[in-house]
Amino acid sequence: MRKVAIYGKGGIGKSTTTQNTVAALAEMGKKVMVVGCDPKADSTRLLLGGLAQRSVLDTLREEGEDVELEDIRSGGFSESLCVESGGPEPGVGCAGRGIITSINMLEQLGAYDEDQQLDYVFYDVLGDVVCGGFAMPIREGKAEEIYIVCSGEMMAMYAANNISKGILKFAQTGVVRLGGLICNSRNCDREAEMIEEFARRLGTKMIHFVPRDNDVQRAEINRKTVIDWNAECSQANEYRQLAQKIDENEMKVIPTPLAMEELEQLLMEYGLFQ
Ligand code: ADP
Ligand code: MG
Repeated sequence: MRKVAIYGKGGIGKSTTTQNTVAALAEMGKKVMVVGCDPKADSTRLLLGGLAQRSVLDTLREEGEDVELEDIRSGGFSESLCVESGGPEPGVGCAGRGIITSINMLEQLGAYDEDQQLDYVFYDVLGDVVCGGFAMPIREGKAEEIYIVCSGEMMAMYAANNISKGILKFAQTGVVRLGGLICNSRNCDREAEMIEEFARRLGTKMIHFVPRDNDVQRAEINRKTVIDWNAECSQANEYRQLAQKIDENEMKVIPTPLAMEELEQLLMEYGLFQ
């Protein structure tokens, strides 16, 4: 079973990209579980067709420890399995700890056991590792292969660089590795070229360039992944390519984060200032 986590700046497209990629992997016949690790609990909406699902933490709060796998895991598109970790009550407790509580619960209930025959688990993780809590899946060895969603916008690249610092910190003593950057386009100038160069300097590669396409929104309003909504459209093929590349990826590295000056230099060389 491959343990994948998707990180990136808030709003960059982690949940969208995760679910669309999972839909493509499921279409390829892979057995995938998605664990949403964002207190917003919106990591599985497109796979579940919008069905509200009670989060693990809510279930634990309401039912105590006496929880069954069916209480916290639902079947989604093409036999994918969906879990939302949920969050602490606002203003109280640590969301990072909540993620680990949820993962431990899933382990106890046998969600990762051999008989589940999972090919993949995907963690969709909020934040850019500024708060140590969100590094938990990396720190505890729950996620081994990280993909960072970014774009040619400065703050997205800044977050990707920070996340790489987090991976570097835990890679030295653990199993976590960077699998690549997913460029989720914001239509910046020379975006693909810049992200390819950024990836090269991080010691990794841009695994795929996902175009910005309004079909993503059209599918979303119908509470579906793009493949589920219109299997023939060009964006569906983009997610199929991304899924294929992840499935075939063997380049898993310890990243070499950039100094702030180097990151700024990269932005000057490309894009806006040309
Ligand atoms: P995150 O999980 O990183 O916070 P989301 O996946 O919720 O971000 O994405 C934010 C919004 O961006 C979504 O509502 C979606 O409509 C839009 N979006 C993401 N990727 C694309 C894309 N490739 N093309 C068009 N819109 C996109
Ligand atoms: Mg999200």
